[in-house]
Amino acid sequence: MRARGRTSSFVLARGDDERALLEEFRDERGGDQVTLLGDEAIAALPVAAGTVTGAALLPLDLRVDPREAVPALAAWLSDRGVRFHRGTHVGRIESTEGAVVVRTSRGDLRGRRAVHAVGHDVDRLFPDLAEEWSVHRCRLQMLEVDAGDLRLESALLTGTSMLRYGGLSAMPSAARVRERIARESPELLDVVMNLMSTQRPDGALVLGDTHHYARTPPPFDDEHDAELLLREGARLFGRPLRVLWRWRGIYATSPRAEFLVAEPAPGLRVVSVTSGIGMTTAFGLANTMVDDLLR
Ligand SMILES: Cc1cc2nc3c(=O)[nH]c(=O)nc-3n(C[C@H](O)[C@H](O)[C@H](O)COP(=O)(O)OP(=O)(O)OC[C@H]3O[C@@H](n4cnc5c(N)ncnc54)[C@H](O)[C@@H]3O)c2cc1C
Repeated sequence: MRARGRTSSFVLARGDDERALLEEFRDERGGDQVTLLGDEAIAALPVAAGTVTGAALLPLDLRVDPREAVPALAAWLSDRGVRFHRGTHVGRIESTEGAVVVRTSRGDLRGRRAVHAVGHDVDRLFPDLAEEWSVHRCRLQMLEVDAGDLRLESALLTGTSMLRYGGLSAMPSAARVRERIARESPELLDVVMNLMSTQRPDGALVLGDTHHYARTPPPFDDEHDAELLLREGARLFGRPLRVLWRWRGIYATSPRAEFLVAEPAPGLRVVSVTSGIGMTTAFGLANTMVDDLLR
């Protein structure tokens, strides 16, 4: 399969505490993983002039367009003999005498091993497991916006991202960043904002996101979140943004672990990324899982 990803991300600091955090991150990971930008490179970033106090380039990050990548992956697997049973509901999974039986809306599938990977719907077939792991649903609101002629080659993360991603939030300065944001803009913490952006091939910017947690999310999206996101996006890029699309997404979350991996019966694994990093970590997790099952 041909990789058509774009590489690298920037993490922007807009305050001394955020810049200190990036320096700590560089010291921990090393210059080949985290490169701090000089003044000239910072001035060339497509964001509001004079607002950035420091920036880190993460050159190893790879970015793909999910709208292309997911169907391409499915086609690649199909070509190699993987059979997809589309439009098929799994209603029950049983494990008996060395076999796993998956009862579907189109009949039974039998095998020696099975992986049940249904994202946030673990509680549908395995309610006890979901309760044991405290699996909840995290509802995100995101926007796709028109930013005119702005060009953004890499993904862009900001101070609120530093509070979300484990590698960054583990740095000593994270507490100072959180305290300042809580003081200056508590509304961002109320909606658990992670202000970040990438550019789609057609030039539109994806702007994310806010988070709400519940076992079952309500059907309503709060316009207040969208307004905050748009306000912060316009502040970041120093230009007005026009909303093209609004959408919500849901992923699994758990206070107990970033990854749920359980073996409720011999030969059966229940797997869910319970932290919103399932796109990034899926290939590593899937590898480990299959190796473990076949061992
Ligand atoms: C808005 C948003 C932004 C995100 N941003 C990021 C990010 O920046 N980086 C990152 O790494 N991750 C991100 N994530 C998280 C990531 O998308 C998820 O962790 C990942 O998609 C989980 O993949 P999965 O295959 O485990 O589950 P899913 O993608 O949820 O797929 C599960 C599939 O199982 C099917 N299914 C469920 N129950 C049954 C059943 N009984 N029978 C048959 N089929 C069933 C569902 O229909 C679904 O197709 C984001 C998620 C959202 C919603």
